[in-house]
Amino acid sequence: MQDKKGKIKGTSKIANEITVRVKAEKERQLFAQRLQELNTYKDEFMIMASHELKTPLTVIMANLQILEIQLKDDERISFVKKTITQAQKLAGLITNLFDVSKIQLGKLILNFSELDINVLIEEIISTLQQTAIKHDLILDKASDKLLVNADRERIEQVLINVIGNAIKYSDENKDVQIKTFRNGLNVEVVVIDQGIGIAEKEIENVFQRFYHGSGSVSTYSGSGVGLYISSEIIKSHGGKIWVESEAGNGSAFHISIPALP
Ligand code: ADP
Repeated sequence: MQDKKGKIKGTSKIANEITVRVKAEKERQLFAQRLQELNTYKDEFMIMASHELKTPLTVIMANLQILEIQLKDDERISFVKKTITQAQKLAGLITNLFDVSKIQLGKLILNFSELDINVLIEEIISTLQQTAIKHDLILDKASDKLLVNADRERIEQVLINVIGNAIKYSDENKDVQIKTFRNGLNVEVVVIDQGIGIAEKEIENVFQRFYHGSGSVSTYSGSGVGLYISSEIIKSHGGKIWVESEAGNGSAFHISIPALP
């Protein structure tokens, strides 16, 4: 402190006691680190558990399929068929949880090769059409080849999930339209349904982990991870997935991945 002439006449000091704040910040950092570790353990456990669950389930399914062939009595065959369907659902659920954990750990490995989206989509539609007998799957495809460098199995998984959802969230006898075309430097697939649609406030959530829409909770079964896995797969191909929709007015899911020249 100085007087009017600038001569020092005293000193003043301001100090803040920040021990508590520093301690709290340290604790917060430790907590965040511990949480991160536990998350990693959880994902590693999920991967191990999914793997262990899959092995016996594969044997169960194989034996059920043999039993189905050997049985003669229609009523028993129908029981076995229902059991196979449920076992398949369980296998699908385990695979999805396995994929979510792999994505979380950054361990989703892709095997890239050249493929024609038109050929892949035709195969998928003909397989899905066999079980989706109450819906017509209509393909409107580009006349040229639509070549991409992609992981065939993973892209197939995405397309089956999106087309499967279009069927699941539509009333019987409603068509599902699938369009493929080249859009600039990308190959685009659009899956259009006339189903329940998605409310505006829910659109941003549908690609999140474990999100099962409010309109779907009681009526439609689902674990809410399909679109999350799909969007991660598409992102890792350098592509984009998005949806245009309105509650009650159907949805159009767009998938775009870089095209090969
Ligand atoms: P799931 O179908 O198992 O709930 P998804 O991740 O595939 O999980 O989808 C997340 C949510 O997005 C669904 O619960 C549903 O609310 C909504 N959704 C997805 N596809 C459609 C569609 N074609 N029509 C209406 N809603 C959809």
